Amino acid sequence: MPAETFEFQVEARQLLQMMIHSIYSNKDVFLRELISNSSDALDKLRLETLRDESLQADTSDLHIALETDTEKRTLTVRDNGIGMSHDEVVQLIGTIANSGTAKFLREWKEAKDSAASEELIGQFGVGFYASFMVADEVTLLTRRAGESQGTRWNSDGEGTYTVESVEDAPQGTSVTLRLKAEDTEDQLFDYTSPWKLREIVKRYSDFITWPIRMAAATPGEDGAEPETETVNSMKALWARSKDSVTDEEYSELYKHISHDWTDPLETIRMQAEGTFEYQALLFLPSHAPQDLFMQGHKRGVQLYVKRVFIMDDCEALMPTYLRFVKGVVDAQDLSLNVSREILQQDRQIEMMRRRLVKKVLSTVKDMMSASPENYRTLWKEFGRVLKEGLLQDFENRDAILEISSFASTQDEEGLTTLRSYVERMKEGQDQIYFMTGESRAAMENSPHMEAFRAKGLEVLLLTDPVDEVWVQSVPEFDGKQLQSVAKGEVDLDSDEEKEKAEEEREKRQQEYAGLLTWMTERLGESVKEVRLSSRLTVSPACIVSDTHDVTPALENMYRAMGQEVPHIKRILELNPSHALISSLKRAHAAQDTEPGADSELAETAELVHGLALLSDGGELSDPARFSRLMADRLERTL
Ligand code: ADP
Ligand code: MG
Repeated sequence: MPAETFEFQVEARQLLQMMIHSIYSNKDVFLRELISNSSDALDKLRLETLRDESLQADTSDLHIALETDTEKRTLTVRDNGIGMSHDEVVQLIGTIANSGTAKFLREWKEAKDSAASEELIGQFGVGFYASFMVADEVTLLTRRAGESQGTRWNSDGEGTYTVESVEDAPQGTSVTLRLKAEDTEDQLFDYTSPWKLREIVKRYSDFITWPIRMAAATPGEDGAEPETETVNSMKALWARSKDSVTDEEYSELYKHISHDWTDPLETIRMQAEGTFEYQALLFLPSHAPQDLFMQGHKRGVQLYVKRVFIMDDCEALMPTYLRFVKGVVDAQDLSLNVSREILQQDRQIEMMRRRLVKKVLSTVKDMMSASPENYRTLWKEFGRVLKEGLLQDFENRDAILEISSFASTQDEEGLTTLRSYVERMKEGQDQIYFMTGESRAAMENSPHMEAFRAKGLEVLLLTDPVDEVWVQSVPEFDGKQLQSVAKGEVDLDSDEEKEKAEEEREKRQQEYAGLLTWMTERLGESVKEVRLSSRLTVSPACIVSDTHDVTPALENMYRAMGQEVPHIKRILELNPSHALISSLKRAHAAQDTEPGADSELAETAELVHGLALLSDGGELSDPARFSRLMADRLERTL
């Protein structure tokens, strides 16, 4: 069959252009990417032969080989792993499946200078395509284990690639790079130099558990096959003594398992001895992957049994709210055939998971004081995910609250913890006040905030959608009740103030009783009750939710998710010290209003209700009518 020519998908083409013209200072990493892919392919083959005994595959000498040709200026990375079928080659190598790539390319186009775009390469990682940083032609020859036909893929990275079937391909994959001339000329970047390759492998891929072989430095006897030697130590980092592993080595392992190109924020090492022995090496990344909030996002912890890779994405070891944690857990006493189903039910795995979770949470807590900068980065990137734990993990709820940070009226820019909020609480204050909303600005200007501002009380400003949800189910922190400023009655007075205020309220209640009853009836279609407010100082009115009602924002969220939510009536609170409200009261008292009469006073009541809705970002049920009434009023003031 003749070679078929395909066009790269648009995103892939853009990415390749970027690689071809890259001045990325650390081109050596292309080799790490190819070795990482080969290592994955060997892992996959081993697992597949365990699962499927009928698979016709050769697993006698699984390894990776590096081969060079100085004359042709080529470097080949070869493995005898799982390989790819014809369709897989087209699908995996010709397109970019990673959903983050589109965003990456958008940011790349916006990045003005080349330094910024280079930095982006480092952040996102480009896998196989990194080859084009050093090669002007790449040939991939592969045969999937168990299949008879092989596939050759070839491209110069400029828009198209060819794919053809071949008869005599060995099992696994070889990637041959024709190195760019300018690189080969420079001794320092000569990727055909054994010395250079050895250095790169040592640096980036030493821990790879499969042998990486190269021709020995001293050639064999005349005519004999050249000797090969293994250039990586293959030692699992977690099995080496703590002091013998450098930060850089940890970083490289992290990059291999996470496919991230940036260093992790924090490395966590754990060791358990006794009846159930295991070692764990966990990493907290420094930035969130693009698909963190997408369905089916994989968890980042791999399971090994006695140094042998068993599975990726081991959900039995990390809860979903810690899905950003990457790493390796190596257990001594599990069977190599262990399945996901078995893991889910295993009591020892469950205990292990609990310990891992506690360790991650306590590490974050330690970061708060030991490296506040790193903690802030972690919270910015993963705080939203961690807060999901407040709903999922009852056992660790307090620990999660302890490491959470929130915006607050106390601090213009920074975030505060609940612990420091509690330390700042005023004498006599026994609740933690919070408000949920779309943005800081909207909340700061909300009428609900007025009395709190007047009294100098701090209010937490919660803007993440998940905040709407967890605040409904977390009653308190450190014995202090969490109280929404937009719900129920507020009571901000001290004891002696209270008595005075009580009398005052009593008096006002009597004065306003007529107006309140009348308005409750007039607006009965849309409000549950009209009452006097103790939370307003400047605004005439505001909308309040009843203590146990779902908040308006949550109501909207449910609707956005397509759920049926009955319309929930809210409470309209009036500010008796506002001139508009006191005049309204007088006007109402002066006029013997018939219920149902479409008087001017009724329109005013409607307008007051509309204003209260708007001031909190709420929606009017009939905006056209509202603006007509309003225009009418304005006209009369001229
Ligand atoms: P990633 O490794 O992050 O998935 P890459 O661009 O490095 O992205 O590789 C894309 C895909 O191509 C891999 O996920 C794998 O399925 C396939 N692939 C790449 N190299 C090999 C190889 N040596 N053997 C088998 N499959 C490979
Ligand atoms: Mg890869």
